[in-house]
Amino acid sequence: MTKNTYDVAVIGGGAAGLNAALILGQARRSVVVFDNGAPRNAAADHMNGFLSRDGMNPAELVTIGRGEVRKFGGEFHDGTVVAVVRTDDGFVIELADDSTMSVRKVLVATGLTDRLPTELEGFGERWGRDVLHCPYCHGYDVRDQPLGIIAKNVDMAMHQAVMVRQWSDDVVLFLHRIAELGAEDREKLAALDISIVDGLVAAPVVDDDRLVGLKLADGTTVARSAVFVGGAITMDPNDSILRSFGAATATTMMGEFVTADAMGATSVAGVWAAGNVVDPGAQVIMAAAAGAKAGAGINMALTADDLETALALRRSISA
Ligand SMILES: Cc1cc2nc3c(=O)[nH]c(=O)nc-3n(C[C@H](O)[C@H](O)[C@H](O)COP(=O)(O)OP(=O)(O)OC[C@H]3O[C@@H](n4cnc5c(N)ncnc54)[C@H](O)[C@@H]3O)c2cc1C
Repeated sequence: MTKNTYDVAVIGGGAAGLNAALILGQARRSVVVFDNGAPRNAAADHMNGFLSRDGMNPAELVTIGRGEVRKFGGEFHDGTVVAVVRTDDGFVIELADDSTMSVRKVLVATGLTDRLPTELEGFGERWGRDVLHCPYCHGYDVRDQPLGIIAKNVDMAMHQAVMVRQWSDDVVLFLHRIAELGAEDREKLAALDISIVDGLVAAPVVDDDRLVGLKLADGTTVARSAVFVGGAITMDPNDSILRSFGAATATTMMGEFVTADAMGATSVAGVWAAGNVVDPGAQVIMAAAAGAKAGAGINMALTADDLETALALRRSISA
């Protein structure tokens, strides 16, 4: 069992956590970053939409980020944080390997987990290649191709179908488990030349390691080279640590998420959060920016604590 003390524990070393650690290191705070090596975009071989890093492999961003954090004294602990416990003067971080560390403040940047509905689990092995969640991450890569949409409800179906149409004029909405689509929605889809296919989707059809179609339960195959399932998946925030403190939550289009203010502060004193764990819509650059703000917010809080301690000391000496 090891025991160390740091100003800040950053739990999760993706874009959000690393940018927070960078800001904190440059603010001359001692930081330890815990990470268990399962970033959300692990399946993707490149990143879109990040100015100056466009097309970079996501793992490369993490490697470069770790190097930058180390330059300013940041340390890394590769492992899973299983619990965070409040103490009189901060928190104790408990790891799966039974080690513990003491810290003054905590940033949770643990991301989220995408889950396909059970009946679409067969699509999982194509995740991030031609089974896609977000047109801003993948749309340009599959532009002008025959695309499909599967969603769990009418709102998500309409949202994704209308949006994905921006990248291709050959879009099919698979109704799958949507029992009814109203006349007005059908008219909107017709206006954009989006076709509707009724019936349950059963499986991906793959040839030479590429999606070539979607097989329906009735045996027919609809040729498609990519399918957007962002409206069908569940985005589960990895927020057990935040929830263990009873952090306040709010309902979003993607479900119940812990809330954080503009500087990443949660409702729990001493605990900040940034990135996909609190913001399901955040792409990498937004997660990084949220981490940077949280880093500044944490430094501000530490500065206020340090001032209070210095004042108390000064007054005790002069008393
Ligand atoms: C297939 C796919 C492709 C994508 N493509 C793009 C794209 O092209 N462009 C783009 O901008 N965005 C893309 N995204 C979105 C991108 O993944 C997120 O914006 C980004 O990962 C959010 O960063 P984050 O730091 O919040 O979380 P993450 O990057 O997921 O990092 C969280 C980290 O926390 C660690 N962790 C979790 N729990 C614990 C724990 N208890 N203890 C220790 N460590 C823990 C994880 O191992 C992980 O490394 C894509 C997403 C997917 C699913």
